[in-house]
Amino acid sequence: MFQEIQRTLFTREQIAERVKGMAADIARDIQADLEKDGHSVLDMDKVIIIPVMTGAMIFVADLIRELPLRLSLGLVAVSSYPGASVRSKGALLASEMPKDLAGKHIIVLDDILDSGQTLAMVRDLILKQNPATLRMGVMLDKQVKRVADISADYVGFEIPDEFVVGYGLDYDGYYRNHPEIGVLDTDSLPS
Ligand code: 5GP
Ligand code: MG
Repeated sequence: MFQEIQRTLFTREQIAERVKGMAADIARDIQADLEKDGHSVLDMDKVIIIPVMTGAMIFVADLIRELPLRLSLGLVAVSSYPGASVRSKGALLASEMPKDLAGKHIIVLDDILDSGQTLAMVRDLILKQNPATLRMGVMLDKQVKRVADISADYVGFEIPDEFVVGYGLDYDGYYRNHPEIGVLDTDSLPS
């Protein structure tokens, strides 16, 4: 779709297949948790999915439609790459935290796990509310040395340490609508 995304890492088909696989894993684990609690997957008010905005929006939109659970969404916004930047400036909470998470089964979903600061911050804020369980899922897991001590329970794909865009991931706010995940050639950007 965009010339300056020269190398495709994952196509629409590859992404869709992984999202389905991740949804099946998540549904299985949550169902087991709910059964342990004496609840069913159709009980209200037990499962909350927390997308980390804005990057997770496409991934989460696809994934939740593969989840046969009664769930609600609680958004959280975190910014770490303000403006035209390919280096993280550290995670900054840019919204209120969802409330009433005590006793709930929580799944945090983000586009990519890089330094780990974003998910570590969100995790710590959620744990203060005493959820029943907390799990993390990411579409991409960058093979880098983490700054924060964290790992994801569900991973779409592992990738090398390159700056990627598409499928929700942006550069300076753009390319989120690119349907594939690819590497941006920053030298050939239109001005
Ligand atoms: P972390 O806090 O783990 O370093 O970074 C996580 C956040 O940084 C992600 O939610 C994402 O918004 C952004 N990020 C990290 N790596 C990339 C990348 O390769 N491309 C884009 N577009 N965003 C990234
Ligand atoms: Mg993000």
